[in-house]
Amino acid sequence: MNRAMIVAIDGPAGSGKSTVAFELARRLGFVHLDTGAMYRALTWLAARDGVDVEDGAALARLARENPVSFSAEGRVEIAGEDVSSNIRAGEIDRLVPAVARHPEVREVMRERQRSLGSVGDTVIEGRDIGSVVAPNAEVKIFLVADEDERVRRRSADRPETSADSLAAELRRRDQRDAANTQPANDAVLLDTTDLTVDQVVVCIAELVEARR
Ligand code: C5P
Repeated sequence: MNRAMIVAIDGPAGSGKSTVAFELARRLGFVHLDTGAMYRALTWLAARDGVDVEDGAALARLARENPVSFSAEGRVEIAGEDVSSNIRAGEIDRLVPAVARHPEVREVMRERQRSLGSVGDTVIEGRDIGSVVAPNAEVKIFLVADEDERVRRRSADRPETSADSLAAELRRRDQRDAANTQPANDAVLLDTTDLTVDQVVVCIAELVEARR
């Protein structure tokens, strides 16, 4: 039997990762693993329990003691709570880069990501999947898009926030995530600005077929 296949999809916020990874996994019959949701869930728990986002050791302990899991329907769970909706709040957007920048936190999260990604064929989306979490992934994609388009996509998710504040937030998050958002040397760079979700998914599915 062939070993499990990993498709790594990395890229910044608004590049199309989540939509594309979800749809690609559905079409291929792969598991979908959203590593951004894992950092968000940990951030939610830290906020609930009053753990300082500057305290890397305490956050790493919190992560180790409360492994994030996904239900069969893709719900995100931590510490016995379904946090699927809560982790999309604007407050979590703002806090998550502070939590995710600690190397000791990333170590715990990456170990969990590797374990969740090893159960079968998986599409893993994130920022450092092709470069660090799964350097042996069979297919590695790095998605990019123009800033205006990325802001338009965020606006669709957050109609209550003005485009100007979304643009400012996006820039701030890009800056804070920059160190951990790296395309692998062998990643295929795909600019999704003028592409539909279907076009991106078909393009990646072809790369997957070529590797099977
Ligand atoms: O992809 P998403 O926007 O949901 O990710 C939320 C945050 O989680 C990012 O802004 C980043 O701080 C962190 N993250 C990360 N490494 C990953 C995935 C997400 O640092 N592999």
